[in-house]
Amino acid sequence: MRLARFENSGPGLGVVSTGADSGVDLLWDVTPALDALPSYRYPLPGVDPLIANFSAISDRIRTLLPSAPVIPLSDVTLLAPVANPGKIVAAPVNYQKHLDEVRGDEGLHHQNQINTIQKAGLFLKATSALAGAGEGIALRKLDRRNDHEIELAFVIGRTARSVSAGDALDYVAGYAIGLDISIRGTEERSLRKSADSYAVLGPWLTTADEVGSPDDLELRLSVNGELRQCARTSQLTLKVAELVEFASSFFTLHPGDVFFTGTPEGIQPVGPGMMIFIPAEQKHRLRALTPLFYFEFQAPNRFKTHILEGTEDDLRWIRKEGGSDWMQT
Ligand code: MN
Repeated sequence: MRLARFENSGPGLGVVSTGADSGVDLLWDVTPALDALPSYRYPLPGVDPLIANFSAISDRIRTLLPSAPVIPLSDVTLLAPVANPGKIVAAPVNYQKHLDEVRGDEGLHHQNQINTIQKAGLFLKATSALAGAGEGIALRKLDRRNDHEIELAFVIGRTARSVSAGDALDYVAGYAIGLDISIRGTEERSLRKSADSYAVLGPWLTTADEVGSPDDLELRLSVNGELRQCARTSQLTLKVAELVEFASSFFTLHPGDVFFTGTPEGIQPVGPGMMIFIPAEQKHRLRALTPLFYFEFQAPNRFKTHILEGTEDDLRWIRKEGGSDWMQT
């Protein structure tokens, strides 16, 4: 199941499915399924309620789907599929070639000693940095490098303490694409990567049963038509299961906790006038994660994300004069 949160006339819950004839992804509005959530009283539990109650929610979704209204994805703003993660755990330098590029560029390491992930461990991004694929990113510190980092992201489905790698995938609810926007400089990673909207998650959550093994998915990101990042998760130093084992040996993981697994090589600055695409490999399981992200910088410091269909080569999109809609030329 591909589960999306969206904003239309109000916050909604949807299921994304590909039309058999058109090949176009559509959104089935199953917002009433949220009525299956328990009502909480203070103090609130440290979980994401949607993920913690996913079994009840998915039962309700199956009941609603046959008569659910269908909405074009272009009519909604996609929000982060997890609204209230207890924490966002992130992996630094988790691809060897990315470790090499950071060590070789002072603009990236800023005289900091860059340890391997086994020595550096993990870091946390602020949950307030979370943004959906349709919400846009507001850049900070424009006098410094701000880089794109495409990453496989995943969401914890049930409470995990000291879980072994062999059992770890049973604790994963699903997968998404993460964009770990990063300010370069001397400060701790947690500070530089926690600005509001610097943790893009989406475009939706693809449940683990649809993805299968997360260990050989392709990630690609291009800017202005130039391919900048292309790697497979088989190249991860610590894979998804090992990240769960590592993290859960230090702290408890709760339903809804989000992981960013680290970026491959090819990180470069983002800025005004750039368009970032995150196309998914066609006919591949990751196709279930994302059709195509499309980011465009607008003001000097802001860009929006659009979800488009088709391959990057097919796309020649421009903004309609004076409007916020997009049209194909
Ligand atoms: Mn990263």
